[in-house]
Amino acid sequence: MNELDALKRQGLLRSLRPVSRPAPPLIEIDGKTLINFSSNDYLGFSQHPALVQAATEALNNYGTGSTASRLVCGSLDLFHEFEETIARLKKTEASLTFANGYATAMGTIPALVGKGDTIILDKLSHACLIDAAKLSGATLRVFPHNDLSKLERLLTTSSGRTLIVTESVFSMDGDLAPLAAIVSLKERFGALLLLDEAHAIGVLGPTGQGLAEGLGLQDQIDFQMGTLGKALGSAGGYLASSREWIDLLINKARSFIYSTAPPPSQAAASLAALNLLQTEEGQAIRAKLKKNISTFNVGRSILDAPSPIVPHLIGDNEAALAASKKLLDAGFLVPAIRFPTVPRGTARLRITLSAAHSSEQIENLSDVLNSIQNPLTSSLAP
Ligand SMILES: *Cc1c(COP(=O)(O)O)cnc(C)c1O
Repeated sequence: MNELDALKRQGLLRSLRPVSRPAPPLIEIDGKTLINFSSNDYLGFSQHPALVQAATEALNNYGTGSTASRLVCGSLDLFHEFEETIARLKKTEASLTFANGYATAMGTIPALVGKGDTIILDKLSHACLIDAAKLSGATLRVFPHNDLSKLERLLTTSSGRTLIVTESVFSMDGDLAPLAAIVSLKERFGALLLLDEAHAIGVLGPTGQGLAEGLGLQDQIDFQMGTLGKALGSAGGYLASSREWIDLLINKARSFIYSTAPPPSQAAASLAALNLLQTEEGQAIRAKLKKNISTFNVGRSILDAPSPIVPHLIGDNEAALAASKKLLDAGFLVPAIRFPTVPRGTARLRITLSAAHSSEQIENLSDVLNSIQNPLTSSLAP
């Protein structure tokens, strides 16, 4: 097929790799056990006994499926308990849960803005935010990554209801949005702000609620969004906001209305993850992740980013694939990330750290990485 051939020629063809027995931080592929540096299971929660037990109990009590949309069949108490917990942690009046983060964006953004309105996105926003913005029918404006002066210029010319959309930790670079400055801008221009905390919940902030909590800005953000599928080791998306906005979403968010509610066991595992995060054990696991991030960043010429996502830029697609293969042979699973996930010419290895890694595993990975020629940085060397 022409399209597949073209992708192959450009080094952009993707395929699925069957894996078995994931047990953080290990993963088994083709009978070979590898150290997994590719998952978003930053706290190793995906196999934590507290989550597994909560999900098992829910399976026993409620069965496997939710059987219909919550508006049709009645809305299970577990979902309400989960949403009240999210709202309390996010310091909002209410929240709504979706099947996943993607469905959260696709349901929420088109319910908030439409034709005649303006949506302003950071250039590096996640695909689901871009897709949702397009679907909304609002005028779409994009500012270069974290470029506040361009954001300000776009705000001066926006019309209708204006929604700014950004992320707290960017998923392919691991850097942070200048959130305090964005909040001042949105207040000055009377715009709304949606913050996607997908890679920050569980990781940043004094109790692991994310960047907004870390900066004490939760009550100034109109829509706090995130996923339970990454650091929290479960699945599902949430949107936290005022009671009125959430009531609007219940009536307008199509991915919520026209989709079977997630399994009850998913809500139970998510709730257990939120609770675990607040315990002494949860705090200790977060401290271990922080320690692993600093261990890995020692001697690396990157900014002292507090996030567990570390890009290792390569540039060329084929070179990135070759580097990923070399790591695989050495026993590490580290994916090569290529266009269209990242801009052309910036193919990279994306390393994600977890509290489940040992210092030794991290140091061994660093050694192998250091032995891989990096064309982008070596061309700058004398
Ligand atoms: C992963 C991700 C999502 C999607 O969340 P899922 O629960 O995996 O669907 C949304 N936004 C960002 C920034 C993400 O990284």
